[in-house]
Amino acid sequence: MDFTIEPEFQVKLDWMLEFVKNECEPIDLLFPHHGDPYDTKNATARAVIAPLQDAVKAQGLWACHLDPHLGGAGFGQMKLAYMNEIIGRSYWAPTIFGTAAPDTGNAEILAMFGTQAQKQRYLQPLLDGDIVSTFSMTEPQAGADPKEFVCRATRDGDEWVIEGYKWFSSNARYASFLIVMAVTDPDASAHNRMSMLVVPAETPGIEIIRNVGVIGDDLAHDDGIHGYIHYNQVRVPLDAMLGAPGEGFKVAQARLGGGRVHHAMRTVGRCQRAFEMMQERVVSRRTQGKLLADHQFVQGMIADTAIELEQFRLLVLKTAWVIDSQPHGAARTLIAMCKVQMAKIYHDVVQRAIQIHGSYGVTNETVLSAMWMALPSLALADGPTEVHRVQVAKAFTRHAKPSAGLFPSEHIPDRLAAARAKYAHILDAAPAFEAAE
Ligand SMILES: Cc1cc2nc3c(=O)[nH]c(=O)nc-3n(C[C@H](O)[C@H](O)[C@H](O)COP(=O)(O)OP(=O)(O)OC[C@H]3O[C@@H](n4cnc5c(N)ncnc54)[C@H](O)[C@@H]3O)c2cc1C
Repeated sequence: MDFTIEPEFQVKLDWMLEFVKNECEPIDLLFPHHGDPYDTKNATARAVIAPLQDAVKAQGLWACHLDPHLGGAGFGQMKLAYMNEIIGRSYWAPTIFGTAAPDTGNAEILAMFGTQAQKQRYLQPLLDGDIVSTFSMTEPQAGADPKEFVCRATRDGDEWVIEGYKWFSSNARYASFLIVMAVTDPDASAHNRMSMLVVPAETPGIEIIRNVGVIGDDLAHDDGIHGYIHYNQVRVPLDAMLGAPGEGFKVAQARLGGGRVHHAMRTVGRCQRAFEMMQERVVSRRTQGKLLADHQFVQGMIADTAIELEQFRLLVLKTAWVIDSQPHGAARTLIAMCKVQMAKIYHDVVQRAIQIHGSYGVTNETVLSAMWMALPSLALADGPTEVHRVQVAKAFTRHAKPSAGLFPSEHIPDRLAAARAKYAHILDAAPAFEAAE
């Protein structure tokens, strides 16, 4: 493995770190609602961030997530990992760098599977940051399992007619288009029964039942951003299909790999910010006649955080390195490991950071409260932790062989007998050796 950073790229990363700390983190305070980065109609916020986006473009760091064969800069996952580590510090930074999810994943599948017309209409304005989009896959009764999806698209002459419900379609209220996964061939095998359709937001029949909020959102103020949608006889032309009929599952899979690694590295960045706060606090605060830094339990929290964060960072970097250097699919299990571990490390680090800050830690006067609120979503979005744990476990048991005999192959009496047999010619002569001494 080679995690070396080229000197010219290190210069870019140094610029990014200063820029995110000094320019993006203050925007988080000015426009704090988690829907704000996606609301392209908020003229004030857009006026504030436009020069920042220009500065990112001038550095050649805008929307770097696409591979060269898809028209992107081709940075590769290693460079993207280092960039995302810095971007993760700020909630607004992904929008300011043109790499906000789910637009990144949607851009990826439009670039991979889109027709020229689809790319022109949707991809370019998405990459330019002029519009935002939605990925509408999860259903209220089906959760993470596409095999349970029932939202249908039925062919009627020159059109597909979509009928059904979707759940947690993030940013639907701000989106210019939605990529909808619908069952087009219910009799086909589990992974070939769905297709992906690109639906303009103004299409009649898209009814947002509620903008579902998450922990901390105010129901009364309609704070939510996750669309609970009824696609009520929504009609789109045949050329609205993204990929071939029946390729919905394949298209959905294509958008998730890289995104999960980016998300994991952003989590490292967010944890580092919390860890920096811990380090400052423990050398600033005294209790029982000494600094917090001199209390052993506190030292334990600092040491555990440093070690676990370093371990997780190396896992994510290794994953990025495998994606860049080995055949497609080689990083599958590593990506699942990152997804599982990301929620755990985030929980442990943010919890310790709050604990070390005492009562101040639970106030809404630090970034820690917003970090804590985001915690449960991290273990659910992009598939629950358990699904990925199962995937990791299967990868390590699929090729395992059962033991040949009654006892495991590590059974010491059997292994000792084998070792004795192997060295019998020496062991049997042992009395002679001893006599010679
Ligand atoms: C903040 C956020 C944003 C999201 N954005 C989008 C979006 O833009 N578009 C979209 O389509 N979806 C989105 N989702 C939905 C997300 O993909 C689902 O929440 C996720 O796939 C899990 O589905 P579910 O919530 O219905 O949980 P369920 O599938 O009901 O699972 C509930 C629990 O059951 C257990 N479980 C489930 N499956 C298994 C399994 N195979 N093995 C073992 N245990 C299991 C786990 O403990 C899991 O947490 C978002 C979710 C969140 C929280």
